Amino acid sequence: TLDGAWTRRWIEAVAAAVAERKSALTALDRAIGDGDHGENLDRGFQAVLGKLDALDEQPTPGAVLKLVATTLISTVGGAAGPLYGTAFLKGAMAAGDRQALDAAALVEVLTAARDGIVARGKAEPNDKTMVDAWGPAVEAAAAAGDDVRAALEAAAGAAEAGAVATEPLVAHKGRASYLGDRAIGHRDPGAESSALILRVAAETQ
Ligand code: ADP
Ligand code: MG
Ligand code: MG
Repeated sequence: TLDGAWTRRWIEAVAAAVAERKSALTALDRAIGDGDHGENLDRGFQAVLGKLDALDEQPTPGAVLKLVATTLISTVGGAAGPLYGTAFLKGAMAAGDRQALDAAALVEVLTAARDGIVARGKAEPNDKTMVDAWGPAVEAAAAAGDDVRAALEAAAGAAEAGAVATEPLVAHKGRASYLGDRAIGHRDPGAESSALILRVAAETQ
């Protein structure tokens, strides 16, 4: 079940995965941005790791998500910090004080996260941003029915496909939008990191 302990294990696994993929994420950002996306996220999730022990012994999922939000907002910087911070904060608000997330609650959390990113960054689908991972993830999770593991797997798969599908696009938001046609052929780093975060969720038991 997706309780607070699961949420904590997920975030710890995200920190490990981001650390492992740091150079790859930064390489994507070097191609169409300023080459710091992996470092930005790694700094943020390492800071989160250092704060998890301040949580209650049995935190709610919402409490874990809120801690992630406030820590990312204060440590990641750039475009991704406020965007991910908003995503986790809105997700925390949607989780409320539930002790665990069933499939319907998971879809509410993912929807709130996606809507928060869109409200903050004003990107539309196919603008070559992290929205291109989150949008399909929400839709796939909502279509997956009431099995929460199936919903997680559907979200991860759709986010990965969405990240790959940013490759042929021209960017309309963020630093990559300055490049015009030269962004074509490169995957959006924020879409890739979003897919990674959701893939790790699907793999967290
Ligand atoms: P910065 O561009 O400030 O260096 P990062 O490199 O950490 O920040 O993050 C870049 C990522 O942020 C992009 O790959 C893209 O996915 C995402 N991004 C940038 N602007 C927006 C936006 N307006 N809406 C949604 N996502 C965005
Ligand atoms: Mg960058
Ligand atoms: Mg930067």
